[in-house]
Amino acid sequence: MDRYDCIVVGAGPAGATAARRLALNGLKTLLIEKEALPRYKPCGGATTPAIAKILDIDHLMAVEQVVRGVTFFSRDEQEDCTFYPDSMKVQMISRVDFDMRLIEAATSAGAVLMEGTNVISVEESENHITVRTAGGDSITGLVVVGADGAKSVVARNMGLYRGPGGAGIEAELYPRDAGVLEQYADRAFFGFGFIPKGYGWVFPKKDHFSVGIAATLERIPGLALIYRQFMERFEFLRDAREGSRKGWFVSFSKGPGLLNTHRACLAGDAACLTDPFSGEGIYYAVLSGAIAADTIADELEERGGLSKKFTKEINRRIVKDFTYAKWCADIFFLSPQFFYRRNRVVNAFARLTNKQMQYKNVLNELRKGMADHGIRSLSL
Ligand SMILES: Cc1cc2nc3c(=O)[nH]c(=O)nc-3n(C[C@H](O)[C@H](O)[C@H](O)COP(=O)(O)OP(=O)(O)OC[C@H]3O[C@@H](n4cnc5c(N)ncnc54)[C@H](O)[C@@H]3O)c2cc1C
Repeated sequence: MDRYDCIVVGAGPAGATAARRLALNGLKTLLIEKEALPRYKPCGGATTPAIAKILDIDHLMAVEQVVRGVTFFSRDEQEDCTFYPDSMKVQMISRVDFDMRLIEAATSAGAVLMEGTNVISVEESENHITVRTAGGDSITGLVVVGADGAKSVVARNMGLYRGPGGAGIEAELYPRDAGVLEQYADRAFFGFGFIPKGYGWVFPKKDHFSVGIAATLERIPGLALIYRQFMERFEFLRDAREGSRKGWFVSFSKGPGLLNTHRACLAGDAACLTDPFSGEGIYYAVLSGAIAADTIADELEERGGLSKKFTKEINRRIVKDFTYAKWCADIFFLSPQFFYRRNRVVNAFARLTNKQMQYKNVLNELRKGMADHGIRSLSL
């Protein structure tokens, strides 16, 4: 029977980041991934350059475009709104390349990778955890990191599961005329009114556009039809070739909650750490993976297991501001057209993309945007 200090389940951004840092801390680490690698993950792939500060490895090979502008539009209006705010800088990454870069960094640091291995159960006892795989293997460790995404087996088995709360569909569209990509390479499109409490997007990549739609509902009746109606708004996508199209769950934050036991902790989507307004999850997956590894490294030797420090850290550094994000979403979705036409609001969102601003401040900007037009702020 194999024995590890730490077993990380799931080799997405959260798991690969955690595994690398655990291995760098000298802990014997196993990274288990269900799929054969490289694996495709339905995702727009929009992320912030601020992610580099946590990663401390070069991920630029995975960046396909850098976007500095944004176009907003609504289903029931013809007129679009385009802005190029000074502070806006969004990296459009290839998830296949980005995730593989992180996995390779984890194995280079000493983590052992087991791919094509489905974890079916996790059991915690006083002195260790036992991870069982569909292939019949039983692996023990001192701590497990559940980084196994929206439907996390680790979260379910540890009694920490809260469900994703949202869903989306993402497709890769390859335009026949390469000039189209050049023309729209510097901005992202966001469309409202196609789906309640959600939006559609078009993001430019190296040789295609990522097109999708997502909302804060786990089951969205007619999602494929809604997606088509959204896509049809784009003249330049009319004759594009569709590469892949897949739906998946979005693990929106549900506010503070318990994220660890004595021998298990959750990171990324498994911990529901997707921004409840924007749906941004890559940055928070990496950040929570790093916090998981650092906390385990600190506490394993000192205490032989985890205290509630991990849950407190995640709630303080990530979930607290998501409470404001949720309020921002509640206000913004009352009338997206009203807000996306206001410079001060768009500038606030642009600064958010760089992590130069927090939702707490964005909420103030939304309220000021309303006050400028004589609308009394809602009490929350
Ligand atoms: C349609 C859509 C669009 C999105 N667009 C964006 C965007 O533009 N920008 C952004 O920041 N975020 C976006 N997100 C969110 C983002 O994709 C996630 O937040 C991010 O992938 C979370 O990373 P993770 O490592 O926690 O989980 P994942 O990336 O989901 O990785 C989990 C891994 O665990 C593996 N796994 C699962 N179960 C098991 C098991 N039983 N045993 C072993 N391995 C297992 C999976 O195969 C997977 O590789 C989007 C999400 C969706 C659904």
